[in-house]
Amino acid sequence: MAVLKCDATIPERDKHILIKGEGQDGKCSIACNSATTPGDMTERGCTYAGCRGVVGGPVQDAIQLTHGPIGCAFFSWGYRPHIADSDFHMKYTFVSDMDESNVVFGGEKKLLQSIIEANEAFPEAKGVFIYNTCTTALIGDDGKDVAKIATEKIGKPVVFFPCEGFRGVSQSAGHHVGNETIFKNLVGTAEPEEDSAYSINILGDYNIKGDLRTFEPLFEAIGLNIVARFTGNVKVDELKVMHRAKLNVIHCARSATYVADMMETKYGTPSINVTLWGIENMSKALRDTAAFFGLEHEAEKVIKREVAKVMPKIEYYRKRLAGKKVFIYQGGPRAWHWPELLAELGMETIGAATTFGHADDYQKIYEKVNDGAFIIDNPNVPELEEILLTLKPDLFISGNKEKYVAYKLGVPFVNGHTYETGPYAGFSGMVNFARDMDKALSAPVWKLVKDMAQPVPGGLEEEVA
Ligand code: SF4
Repeated sequence: MAVLKCDATIPERDKHILIKGEGQDGKCSIACNSATTPGDMTERGCTYAGCRGVVGGPVQDAIQLTHGPIGCAFFSWGYRPHIADSDFHMKYTFVSDMDESNVVFGGEKKLLQSIIEANEAFPEAKGVFIYNTCTTALIGDDGKDVAKIATEKIGKPVVFFPCEGFRGVSQSAGHHVGNETIFKNLVGTAEPEEDSAYSINILGDYNIKGDLRTFEPLFEAIGLNIVARFTGNVKVDELKVMHRAKLNVIHCARSATYVADMMETKYGTPSINVTLWGIENMSKALRDTAAFFGLEHEAEKVIKREVAKVMPKIEYYRKRLAGKKVFIYQGGPRAWHWPELLAELGMETIGAATTFGHADDYQKIYEKVNDGAFIIDNPNVPELEEILLTLKPDLFISGNKEKYVAYKLGVPFVNGHTYETGPYAGFSGMVNFARDMDKALSAPVWKLVKDMAQPVPGGLEEEVA
């Protein structure tokens, strides 16, 4: 019998579910990062989505051009709030708009024309990023060659990302393509005006709702110079010189370790992994980074000062949040970054899931949750519905796509993907996160939904009641 009732017709899903318990030798042997089972209405994104939406998209002064049909570009516009200091970055989306005749006769000319037109419309752009899609890959358009021609024509780097949607099993492959393409085409193509001995790159932070402003000043207060952020609010010119930083500080290990590894191999740049959410994690991140440069004393001063500022508010929220049980479903690493943060507030993670996590992500989740915790890989909506009804978490932390399930079931919900208010990183962000969770848990609307909602006769709600 399937672990979840809704999986009766796709029992293959069972191996993507694990309940932490005895006899597992401390190993999370869950199936993950594999092709979606036919019939499973997955919530995953495609390779293009991971490359365009997560890694390339936040670069603030590049024209982000999708080479494909308009449908692929639809969700590239305004979906992810990776805010930046650029006038055109979030306002516009660019697409070569492949139609039937382009598919039959080829889209290379149209792509070249699109690059030239976009560059004429936005001459302030410092480069053009072209993202390949399923359609243009299948008809064999040579976007790489077009990028070479366009680079000569417009005199700026035109970078082609081979991120056609079908290339991987999820958006995770797109992160890899994004890392590799930026590394090969931009990193190391210029030298910085100054070469500081106290310089770092922040890798794997995408400046969701301004996350960077919560912790950048803390690293700077220690005495560190940030060369580049990969890729939140970063400029093309900063990516070109990021090979000169003395240390890579990796926040999202799933989407940015690739570029760190390539920099280590080619330039010998060491890296450390950090978590920039939560009081303890943020303090540790500052300590570990400072220790590399011998700036421990400066770090302690910054930590003491900043923690003192937020602790009264954290204490207030801790009293209100303690004892609450949470189910987290995030794209990848947040599902293992956050159980510790929630524990700081006295909350317990009773379930966790990711859309595209790999084995190492699930192992980290496993090590951070208690026995009995429900772990599921790439859950679909019927599974989420059944989990919420049976696990009965006090709070569901997930993303844009899942919030409607929570709303309909009357389960308090916080958007951990693109945040409710945010930012959530750093010390001040932790206060925002705690406040948003408290607001969600205290809102009277959930009771109203529950009181008014009528279960569908014979539906899942009745079955699991
Ligand atoms: S899977 Fe292919 S067609 Fe669909 S959005 Fe991604 S690139 Fe476009």
